Amino acid sequence: MTLGFGEGGNPSVGVRGSSPTAGSAAHTVKSGSSFHEMWRELLPVGRDADSGGYRRYAWTGPDAECRAWFKEQAEGRGLAYEVDRNGNQWAWLGDPAAGDAVVTGSHLDSVPDGGAFDGPLGVVSSFAALDELLRRGARFTKPLAIVNFGDEEGARFGLACVGSRLTSGALTVADAHRLTDGDGVSLPRAMAAAGYDPEAIGPDPERLAKIGAFVELHVEQGRALDLSGDRVGIASAIWPHGRWRFDFRGEANHAGTTRLADRHDPMLSYAETVLAARREAELAGAVATFGKIAVDPNGVNAIPSRVRGWLDSRAADQETLDTVVGGIEKAAREYADAHGVDLDVVRESFTPVVEFDHALRDELGRILGRDTGLTVPVLGTGAGHDAGILSGSIPTAMLFVRNPTGVSHSPAESAAEDDCVAGVDALADVLEGLAC
Ligand SMILES: [Zn+2]
Repeated sequence: MTLGFGEGGNPSVGVRGSSPTAGSAAHTVKSGSSFHEMWRELLPVGRDADSGGYRRYAWTGPDAECRAWFKEQAEGRGLAYEVDRNGNQWAWLGDPAAGDAVVTGSHLDSVPDGGAFDGPLGVVSSFAALDELLRRGARFTKPLAIVNFGDEEGARFGLACVGSRLTSGALTVADAHRLTDGDGVSLPRAMAAAGYDPEAIGPDPERLAKIGAFVELHVEQGRALDLSGDRVGIASAIWPHGRWRFDFRGEANHAGTTRLADRHDPMLSYAETVLAARREAELAGAVATFGKIAVDPNGVNAIPSRVRGWLDSRAADQETLDTVVGGIEKAAREYADAHGVDLDVVRESFTPVVEFDHALRDELGRILGRDTGLTVPVLGTGAGHDAGILSGSIPTAMLFVRNPTGVSHSPAESAAEDDCVAGVDALADVLEGLAC
């Protein structure tokens, strides 16, 4: 059974009747129980009734509801709650000033019509793992924190991981101030409207210096664990990825009176390029997607003057990615030439490969294999995460929980109840191994 969809926001996950209040009573209930309780509470927040997907965009009403929930969870457990200068929420057990803190968490915002698991699974599992450790009577030798990073998905302002980018300095204050949403509302204005001080944003090296390790649990956005038959895996690296804009410029003309032979139709070159992208990606074992397009003049009875398509491509390593994108661009130029169409290719963004800290990764492998003697699968991912952004500043690691279909960024995103609980237990083991 899967949690989260088709159950009217009331999944039957077995704790009905025991109903521990958020926090205090959760410590005494069985492993996994506090997870179900929290999951049920968050489930309706920001869910669109028609699509069934989530619309939890940064600094909007649903985001505020998620953040209020986080604060409630922190305070209900007697954790020290704080919001940092960039709007990220923290819940501390122990004194952060002691240093070498172990931090876990993820994000609560969503892409447009996103699924229930991307982000929230990590935050809810973090609180549930802490409950599990307290149930086990764990004695912490290091401070422990749970974090909710703001604006991870970039759904509103077009840039992902704003909270962690600001904290690490990967996003400058000036660039952050220039971000605007689709309605022309700037990031500072949106933050101010939500009750935060946009003048305070900026790098937070003092905070990062107190952290010894950050572990983010996340639903897998792919099928590697489903194919290997494992509930939980450890991340090796985030694939290098980038976005390229292909501008095909031809000649607008009448769709009824222009002979086929006389046309300079950029749509044809674009369409052939889409097929080339698929071919190049298949050959290289990479991925390449044209998911966004803008057509001028965009009239049903007009040959377009310009077709602008955005390519997103990712591969396991830099060389493969270069080969794929180079191959697509070469093909695109040939198609453009054949149709008498001009082509410009602009790289709009690029993120190099992110290797998670090898020592921390190996430590996670040892901790998780300790009782079973089994090797936990280590896998790469094509998706970006706060853990990836922070890996340049502090040792970071990720745990993935099996996703039976691999579907993500969609209302159909899912994970089985038992797998979620296995994720909580794995995270509890990891936190115990690192912080106790
Ligand atoms: Zn995520």
